[in-house]
Order: sequence, then C-alpha cells, then structure tokens
Amino acid sequence: MIGQAVRLDAVSKTYGRGDRAVTALDNVSVMIPRGTFTAVMGPSGSGKSTFLHCAAGLDQPTSGSVKIAEQELTGMDETELTHLRRQRVGFVFQAFNLVPALTVRQNITLPLRLAGQRADRRWLEEILHRVGLTGRADHRPAQLSGGQQQRVAIARALITRPDVIFGDEPTGALDTVTAKEILTLLRGCVDEAGQTVVLVTHDPVAASYAHRVLFLADGRIVDHADNPTAEQVAERMTHLGAWA
Ligand code: ADP
Ligand code: MG
Repeated sequence: MIGQAVRLDAVSKTYGRGDRAVTALDNVSVMIPRGTFTAVMGPSGSGKSTFLHCAAGLDQPTSGSVKIAEQELTGMDETELTHLRRQRVGFVFQAFNLVPALTVRQNITLPLRLAGQRADRRWLEEILHRVGLTGRADHRPAQLSGGQQQRVAIARALITRPDVIFGDEPTGALDTVTAKEILTLLRGCVDEAGQTVVLVTHDPVAASYAHRVLFLADGRIVDHADNPTAEQVAERMTHLGAWA
C-alpha cells in the first residue's frame, strides 16, 4: 500500500520553562508509510512516549507539524483532535484499561458508543475471531488471562477500523509466550488487514516484528534498522547506552 499513515516534520516538544525546561523531542522528522509496522526504541527518558503521544494526536508538539492520514493536526482544537482520534487511531497500552463491569463485547464496542455509533454485529464477530476471542464475548475481564485481556484491548482498538494503531509497551506486562502471540496478532493487522502499527517498546524481540525500527536518544531519531533480528536490535541498543 502506498501513502503516508503518519508524518512528523520538525517536531519538538518542550516540557516546562526556563531552566526547568526539558526538551523531550528535538526536531524530529519521520514518515511512516501505510501498511507498515514500525517499532520505536530508545533508553528510558529518550522521548519514546512523547513521540507516540505527539504522533497520535494525544499531545500537542511545541513546534513542528504532525499529519495522520494526510490530515494536519497542528491548529486543530480539542474537539477536532478527539474526532480525528476516534476515527483514525487505535491505542493499546501496557495497562489493558478495560472496564471491569463491562463484558468483552461491551468493552470492545465502547469506542463506538462513545462516538454515538452502533456496532455492526458481523464486524464485531470478525474482530472477535481475529483476536481469538470467539465465544468469550459475554465474559468479564476478571475471567480472562492477561493475554486475553490485551486481546480485548486490541479488539477495542480495531473496532473503529483505524488507520493507525499506536502501542506503548503493550507487551510489557505479559510473559514472553503471550507477548509473542500479541505481537503476531499486531503483525497480522499489518500483513492481512493493511493497517499501520507504531509500537513503542524496550524489548528487542518485540522490535524484531517490525519492518523498521527507529532508535531515539535524547529526543532525536539517531538511527533506524530495516527488518532487523532481535540480536541486531539488542546490539544497536547497547551502543545507545540502554543497558549501560
Ligand atoms: P520515554 O518514554 O522514552 O521513557 P518520555 O517521552 O516519557 O521518555 O520522556 C522524555 C523526557 O521528557 C524525559 O526527560 C521526561 O522526564 C520528560 N517528560 C516527559 N513527560 C513530561 C511531563 N509531563 N512533564 C515534564 N517532563 C516530562
Ligand atoms: Mg515511556
């Protein structure tokens, strides 16, 4: 697939002012093509979460331009940003953020109901099938394993047919076997459904599922690797000082 899913041009983000100012992102420019899986790696404090939040329209950069699906976010007010996020973007975090009192089905369709839309039953069934939760629609989160709960969170991210799925350490709370299942599922969203995934991780194995890995250090993209092995990612990270 051709086209730009996400584009950042000269994006900087500074928190605080004066001598308390922290530059979390420093003049970052990157284009993420549609239908690709990108991992963002870097030491703690290198700006990964800030990058993700700016790229996803959750946070406003101090300067520079962000586009999602060719739409310019700069200058949008909060209502417009909320609308864009609901239509274009799905999120998966380390904490599953499911509503305990709601069933799997109700959790998954929550974003639609928040947007005042109804869930298409066939589409819900397809999503449940894709994440391997057919037959669990009436369960509550507490009745599911951690991996199954993260599958619910991914289904909830997919229900609005987003252009881009953003993940911030979505496998961080899972054991390695379950993490691999979740990564395979996310890679399938790209390979089979043509979606775009942008994943922040500190795990070289997780990064090895990506087409491209972006390396952040001190708020800048300092390198990238295409289709790297986990060993190659780990090696590159060593030189960024991550395990120092
Ligand atoms: P990472 O996700 O790679 O650990 P972050 O994007 O969370 O990095 O943070 C990058 C830098 O910005 C860090 O120095 C962090 O302390 C700072 N930072 C992040 N969020 C805030 C905030 N809300 N207020 C002040 N400083 C922040
Ligand atoms: Mg972070």
